[in-house]
Amino acid sequence: MHCPFCGAQDTRVTDSRLVAEGDQVRRRRQCAECGERFTTYETAELVMPRIIKADGTREVFDEAKLRAGMLRALEKRPVSAESIEAAVERIRQQLRARGEREVHARVVGEEVMGALKRLDQVAYIRFASVYRRFQDIDEFRAEIDRLAQEPGFSPDGSTRGDGR
Ligand SMILES: [Zn+2]
Repeated sequence: MHCPFCGAQDTRVTDSRLVAEGDQVRRRRQCAECGERFTTYETAELVMPRIIKADGTREVFDEAKLRAGMLRALEKRPVSAESIEAAVERIRQQLRARGEREVHARVVGEEVMGALKRLDQVAYIRFASVYRRFQDIDEFRAEIDRLAQEPGFSPDGSTRGDGR
């Protein structure tokens, strides 16, 4: 790393520590030539893949849109804002971890469904019913029936009875 003061190539790190809850490394450096000190910050490059929509067009990943969709499904459900944020972050991480420059919108939808399924099954059914647009009513019905068999699933507040 060149010295920003004199341009010398030889600078040494005098201190290195994690900041921003471990997402960043802060380094104090000193120039061997002029003796000036300066600080550098190092972060991982967090590039989200672009989203390939069903019609083939591409768009940038929109976290606000993702969150809004989840919140709509989770409306009036007993799930904390903290849990929702953790789920959003996990989806971001999973999409990045694929290491691809572009992912299909379908993949994002499946990730959201997986996250909602863990958070709240009613929200999951709400999201899935919209997401799959009832393309396969029998499959949707079967999924509800299957969930109803699982312990902890309450049919109260399901899609039926709230005006849909
Ligand atoms: Zn220097």
